[in-house]
Amino acid sequence: MSLSKILTEDFLTCSICHQKFKDPKVLSCAHTFCQHCLQGHLDRNCQGQPRFPCPICRRQCVLPGGGVSGLQTNHLLVSISQAHGQVEQAKAAKKCKICCMKNVSNPPTATKRCLDCEESMCGDCSSDHVLHKFSRDHKLFPVDQFDSDEYVTELRARQNVLCDHNNKDPVEIFCPVCKMFICATCMFLEHQGHDCLRINIAANKRKEKLELCVKPIEKKSLRYDLFKTAAEDQKVSVEEGRKKAKSQVNKQLEQVIKIARQRADDLLGEIDAMSNAKLDILNSLIATATVEQNQLKNAVDFSRKLIHHGNDIDVLQMASACEESSESVQTLDTPNLPAAMTQLQLFTKDMEECVTSINSCFGDAVPAASGRLLTSFKVELAKSAELIIHVTTDNNGDTLCGIWCKDDSSQNRIHIYNSNFVLQGTIPNPRAAEKDGFAGIAIDDDGNIVTRCQVSNEIIVYSKKGDHVRTFHSESPQAVAINSKGHYVVAGSRTLTVHHKEGEVLQSTPDPDVKYIKYVHCNVNDDVIVTGDDHIRVYDSTLQLKYTYGTQGDLDGQVMDPCGTCCLDNGDIILTDLCNGRLHLVSPDGKFKRFLLTKENGIDRPKDVAISHLGQLVVGEQRGKIKFFEL
Ligand SMILES: [Zn+2]
Ligand SMILES: [Zn+2]
Ligand SMILES: [Zn+2]
Ligand SMILES: [Zn+2]
Ligand SMILES: [Zn+2]
Ligand SMILES: [Zn+2]
Repeated sequence: MSLSKILTEDFLTCSICHQKFKDPKVLSCAHTFCQHCLQGHLDRNCQGQPRFPCPICRRQCVLPGGGVSGLQTNHLLVSISQAHGQVEQAKAAKKCKICCMKNVSNPPTATKRCLDCEESMCGDCSSDHVLHKFSRDHKLFPVDQFDSDEYVTELRARQNVLCDHNNKDPVEIFCPVCKMFICATCMFLEHQGHDCLRINIAANKRKEKLELCVKPIEKKSLRYDLFKTAAEDQKVSVEEGRKKAKSQVNKQLEQVIKIARQRADDLLGEIDAMSNAKLDILNSLIATATVEQNQLKNAVDFSRKLIHHGNDIDVLQMASACEESSESVQTLDTPNLPAAMTQLQLFTKDMEECVTSINSCFGDAVPAASGRLLTSFKVELAKSAELIIHVTTDNNGDTLCGIWCKDDSSQNRIHIYNSNFVLQGTIPNPRAAEKDGFAGIAIDDDGNIVTRCQVSNEIIVYSKKGDHVRTFHSESPQAVAINSKGHYVVAGSRTLTVHHKEGEVLQSTPDPDVKYIKYVHCNVNDDVIVTGDDHIRVYDSTLQLKYTYGTQGDLDGQVMDPCGTCCLDNGDIILTDLCNGRLHLVSPDGKFKRFLLTKENGIDRPKDVAISHLGQLVVGEQRGKIKFFEL
């Protein structure tokens, strides 16, 4: 912020009284208030207490013994306020001061102001001013530039403090012992041997020191930026996932409705068909009955007519025909109604089963890796004989890569990259002379880098700067992990051992020897996951074997050259499956859940995995690519 801007902004306004600061006092949270405003705040809210909350940010501040007046005065604000007052004063002086003093009638407007005399003057008077012997080197400033930075800077440079001894001589010296600003005379007379410094030199020294304090805070603040960006990214991803999953649910719903509607239509059709068939039968029976009944009626009719209307001759002539007709219907009989059930009804099976089926066809909403590749970088490998063996990250966002050189293990080394993937340093093989296999990176609770040399039976610890911290003995170590207690868990070729970070053995158990180099990782419950040739062995925190996961192959739950592992917060294990080019997601009790990433996500021969401090999945590929995926 420019100086002139500071003068006009809220910078000079107390947020309690909304006036210009009076006796500004600064709190440990860097907020400033007028002394009397703070006093009022304390009287109202926390009388007699040794601590009080900042009226703005609520951070607890300590009240010094002397009360509010004992708080640090904000000298910066005092002197800036003073400059502000001077600017206001300068702006208010419209007329030439010299002409006014000369009692010139109708004094002309001032065009310049002398910074040394703090007087504004007209063109003529200012020309005279710089010719005068005593004011020749005075600095004149045009009145229309009072709001410029330059003017304020000039004013600030002239704000000098006078020495207590006579209130005339300006101070030049700072006494660090007495913490006083003094004149040169006072230094000789009263501050001998106090390591006094010129004020500007003392100030520059303090500025340098302050710079050293501020730098790491600024750096930390940048890490917050990264964190916030990553969190915002995840928010976007959550929304994407929400949209996708919801549309899947709606699709399933449509499917279920379609299938249900089809079934209902089929059923309605079936009901119609079955009912119609029954009705057809009944109708045809009724038709037959009607025909037969008509035959009966005709026979009866014929005879009745003869009986009632025929004369005797007629009767005798026709009777035999009537008898014949009666005889012919003798054999007719009413048809039988079918004994089958006549009604249809919907026979519904247990609704519970239906709910289960519908639920199972909808599926469940489960967390899934978005599989989005966020970023990647390439570790420069000297030749094809070199490969990435380990990858891990620390809380600063740095990435550490272990490089293994197949034909010359003296070249084994660890690269440290910062969050912009710029190489910060390399830890060379400390046992290069013996060509020992140097590898195995874990970051311990002190932020140190834990490595191992297998043949020399050593766990070797380095600082982040690459300085050696300590070395201790561990039997044929192949991999090392850090558990929640900060202990080192070492997978040796025949043992699994928990060391105190200083080396003391806390627990140990036999662990089978395998062909390839082991990997080891600890989850949140301190379960220990050791990678063998074609499976992982999971031990509990007391090193009892809980289960193994994996067999050789390329199906679900099968692996080809498993290597590094890492864990999610819920205990799920992420396992690299090098030759199948995929990552397994394994439940904490050792069940295959699904493939987290496959070749389709663009991973190639994943050798090791880690979760970064931003919650990203870091995949170290054997051929040198380090890829960061969103989970
Ligand atoms: Zn105030
Ligand atoms: Zn505050
Ligand atoms: Zn004048
Ligand atoms: Zn002057
Ligand atoms: Zn003095
Ligand atoms: Zn002194």
